[in-house]
Amino acid sequence: TTDNINPGEVVDKSIAQNKVMIFSKSSCPFCLKIKDLFKSLNVEYVALELDQINNGAEIQNALLEKSGQRTVPNVYINGEHIGGADKTISLHTQGELLPLINKSSHSYDYDMVVIGGGSGGLAASKESANLGMKVAVCDFVTPTPKGTTWGLGGTCVNVGCIPKKLMHQSAILGGELKDSREYGWDTPETVTHDWGRMVEAIQNHIGSLNWGYRVALREKKVDYLNAYATFTDPHTIKTVDRRGKEKIITSDKFLVATGGRPRYPDIPGAKDHTITSDDIFSLPHAPGKTLLVGASYISLECAGFLAGLGYDTTVMVRSILLRGFDQQIAEKIGTYMEQHGVKFIRGAVPTNIEKIEEGTPGKLRVTAKTTDGEEVVGEYNTVVVAIGRDPCTSGIGLENAGVDLAKNGKVVVEKGEQSSVPHIYAIGDVMEGGLELTPVAIQAGRLLARRLYRKDSLQTDYVNVPTTVFTPLEYGCCGLSEEAAIDKYGEDDIEVYHSSYQPLEFTVAHRPENDCYAKLVCVKSENEKVVGFHILGPNAGEITQGFSIGLKLGATKADFDNLIGIHPTAAEIFTTLNITKRSGKDVSAQGC
Ligand code: FAD
Ligand code: NDP
Repeated sequence: TTDNINPGEVVDKSIAQNKVMIFSKSSCPFCLKIKDLFKSLNVEYVALELDQINNGAEIQNALLEKSGQRTVPNVYINGEHIGGADKTISLHTQGELLPLINKSSHSYDYDMVVIGGGSGGLAASKESANLGMKVAVCDFVTPTPKGTTWGLGGTCVNVGCIPKKLMHQSAILGGELKDSREYGWDTPETVTHDWGRMVEAIQNHIGSLNWGYRVALREKKVDYLNAYATFTDPHTIKTVDRRGKEKIITSDKFLVATGGRPRYPDIPGAKDHTITSDDIFSLPHAPGKTLLVGASYISLECAGFLAGLGYDTTVMVRSILLRGFDQQIAEKIGTYMEQHGVKFIRGAVPTNIEKIEEGTPGKLRVTAKTTDGEEVVGEYNTVVVAIGRDPCTSGIGLENAGVDLAKNGKVVVEKGEQSSVPHIYAIGDVMEGGLELTPVAIQAGRLLARRLYRKDSLQTDYVNVPTTVFTPLEYGCCGLSEEAAIDKYGEDDIEVYHSSYQPLEFTVAHRPENDCYAKLVCVKSENEKVVGFHILGPNAGEITQGFSIGLKLGATKADFDNLIGIHPTAAEIFTTLNITKRSGKDVSAQGC
């Protein structure tokens, strides 16, 4: 009750004690509108309903004296008089309301410093700035042993998803040029490809993206420091730019989003003579005969586009293809690639790499050992190692800040991407238990900023994240592999529906009938809920993105059956799957 308190005192105390104070009347539509606005922004406010207290009129008089405004709503933020509904709404539409509310109450240089200007770091910094915080991003690329370096945007834009997908597209176009003859085009029998022109075009595109990111940071008023950051204590970093200029910066909160870099095998000649995915997309000369070491995403994707562009391509596989993915499909990918010119050396690891000829690309001799102890020697113009990536968490002073790291070097986080030091967070490829995928890093960055600065509660959901391997036949999946589903639910409780299929486009082009494949992994005891979606075929990424919402929403096999297909598409195969793996029936493509 405010009955026995001096009205002026009620006004002063209410303003001083509450970040957002609304003097309101419960029946006033403008007051309702303002309260709804704050609710929609997840901003806590206190409203004193002047029509529901005895001395409301006196308080209104005191408000007039203090603010020059008698009408309601009368809004104060952080002790500052804002005004009525129109003024508050216009501040919001100009993007100035949240900055006023989130005004810092600390003495650090920044509210948030993000270390790493890649997918996750840029998303988090822009979102934090949108919510009114003072933000800086440090991004620095340590050159590869070959001297390759790049601009703002991190792995995805410069040496990952973007150049990879564009080179995949270049290879696909080569295949389609061949198809085009069957479709009536007078395409010459032999067409040539110019590596240098492709690289230049792709690098030009990347350059424009780098520039766009810098502009976006400037527009959002995020300070960009092209400098390497190292923690010196839990609230302080030292940054060093490429000229060696040092700067000390303090911040209330930090986000570690430093990503990862390719690992080199510990064998003679590896760092001197091989390249990695950090070099290949800007390689100024054609790679020639190429060996790729490793059998996961990066190796197979690069092998796919190199073979598609016409290079003699070999993959050295230590154990299996695409560990962690559905192994039936991983093998189908291998078979298709083998039929389309990629050679595989199975069960082998390199032991020595020596240069036997200078030049661009020059020539290398690779000695390898098989699991049977046999020695295999081969000569290649280029060797690409893709044997995994190490998180960039060493040498950045995380020990000075007291941040716990897992055995693999990634940052251990609690729910909410919070490290062992409460004001230091980690997202993206450096986060233990996450997924090394661009959209995951972006989502984690955005949602973290909203939880920190808008009081949202939504956490990033790391389950049922769709992904695609961009091998010559793309492989899209969401949910569990068949093996993982059997592990989780037991073989008897899993029903697998599957079929080979031939995209219509393949028919006139006389491409094989049974290379493409679709499969749904269902749990019998849960009404045949679909827990694994898998497709091997052209445009698998596009198809998987759409269907993955079904898995997120808990779709069952019956839901897929009830869905009417779009004809003629490849995706419609998922609406007509009726052969179970258990039945052992033939799943060869059936025609239209
Ligand atoms: P990054 O994007 O790696 O950004 C980290 C940044 O921090 C870098 O710029 C780094 O130089 C900088 N940095 C590091 N340490 C410091 C420091 N101390 N101070 C200042 N700056 C620092 N994902 C997909 O979703 N789809 C794909 O098709 C795909 N293809 C890929 C292909 C390849 C060849 C590779 C390598 C990766 C691919 N990925 C793909 C994975 C994706 O690129 C990563 O998951 C994503 O970029 C991770 O984002 P991030 O923000 O965690 O880190
Ligand atoms: P991975 O860690 O996934 O795979 C490493 C591969 O190298 C495995 O085949 C492994 O074999 C092999 N290997 C490991 N050590 C050696 C060694 N000493 N000698 C020979 N072979 C070895 O790494 P990637 O670099 O392929 O990918 C990293 C991450 O990047 C992925 O997890 C993925 O999330 C992300 N990415 C995403 C893409 C997409 O979305 N399309 C594309 C590319 C990358 P073994 O199985 O025997 O251990």
